[in-house]
Amino acid sequence: MTAATVAPYPPITGSEPCRQADTDPDLWFSNDPMDQAEAAELCRTCPVKTQCLAYALDHPKDTEFGTWAATTPEQRRSLRRKFARKDTTS
Ligand code: SF4
Repeated sequence: MTAATVAPYPPITGSEPCRQADTDPDLWFSNDPMDQAEAAELCRTCPVKTQCLAYALDHPKDTEFGTWAATTPEQRRSLRRKFARKDTTS
């Protein structure tokens, strides 16, 4: 049996779309579908998107709200359920 690893916080450099001074950071914490879509579109260009998604999926309590790596909270819950089922069937 091997110990499970947990994804670390993404290596933020300041170049991420959610960290730009000319971008409204509230887009990433809005429940408005238009804001979520805009945040998701910006996330798609992010250099740490993969690491951000791994962190978000491994830290559900810290990422319960908002847009992380172009995913909504419901999308992340769905992905966690999907991966949990895959773990039990492999
Ligand atoms: S992928 Fe993560 S770090 Fe990158 S812009 Fe989106 S929320 Fe920010």
